[in-house]
Formats: sequence, structure tokens, C-alpha cells
Amino acid sequence: MKMVADLVLKRILDVLIGAVSGLFIFAAGTITAQVMPVVFPLISKEFLLSIFLLSFLLNVLLLIVAIYFYRKRDFFYRFGLLWRKNGEAYCPACKNLLMNSKESSLNVAKFWCPTCKEVRQPLFEEGSEVSIEHLSKMF
Ligand SMILES: [Zn+2]
Repeated sequence: MKMVADLVLKRILDVLIGAVSGLFIFAAGTITAQVMPVVFPLISKEFLLSIFLLSFLLNVLLLIVAIYFYRKRDFFYRFGLLWRKNGEAYCPACKNLLMNSKESSLNVAKFWCPTCKEVRQPLFEEGSEVSIEHLSKMF
């Protein structure tokens, strides 16, 4: 029930951020349309060019940072599940974070996918069960 409430809260937050962003862009566009014809003749071309170059460089920097964080999020595949370097297990079907299953024991590791509503069990290639102890040594 708490997860549903979290999901609803997240959706409401997304809609609010979208609405506020749209309003901000509309206001900025309106102000710019009125102010620019007055201000533009007063600004030197060198200043505009330097602002453009600065903006371009900041965008390139932002792109590099975005690529860096995107690559950092990469998963690796082992025992039939997806993993992150911090030891978190992710569902191979929906790529959501797995929860520890109540069926899990020291000898048999089992996870629960809250999205697929299925038990996800790490298995060796030959099909035998992976222990929690073995998983903890992996990281
Ligand atoms: Zn899943």
C-alpha cells in the first residue's frame, strides 16, 4: 500500500513539475519578446558572440556529464540477474530494483520483483542455486 502511495505521489510531483516548467517557459518567452527589441541594439556583437560561445561550451560540458552518469548506471549480467557494482540486484525482465525475498536463506538467495510479482532467483549456469554468502563475495 505504501508503494502505491509513493507511486501516486511521484506521478503528482511529475505533473506539478511539468506544469510549473511550462508556465516558466511561457513567462520567459513573453518577457523576452517584449524586452529583446529594446535591449538588442544596445548589446555589442562581441558580447553576444561570447555569450553564444559560453552557452555552447556549457552545453557540451553538460552532455559529457550526462554521458558519464548514464554509463555509470550500467548493469552487468550474472547468474541470470542484472547487478550494479554496489551489490544491488535488478530484475532482468523489467530492470527494476529487486527486494530480498522472505524465502531467501543463507544457502539459497531469492529476490522478489515488486513489478513483475515474481520470485527472481540467481542460478549458476548449470542450474544450481547461488547462496547469499557467494553473492556477498562477488562485490
Ligand atoms: Zn520485474
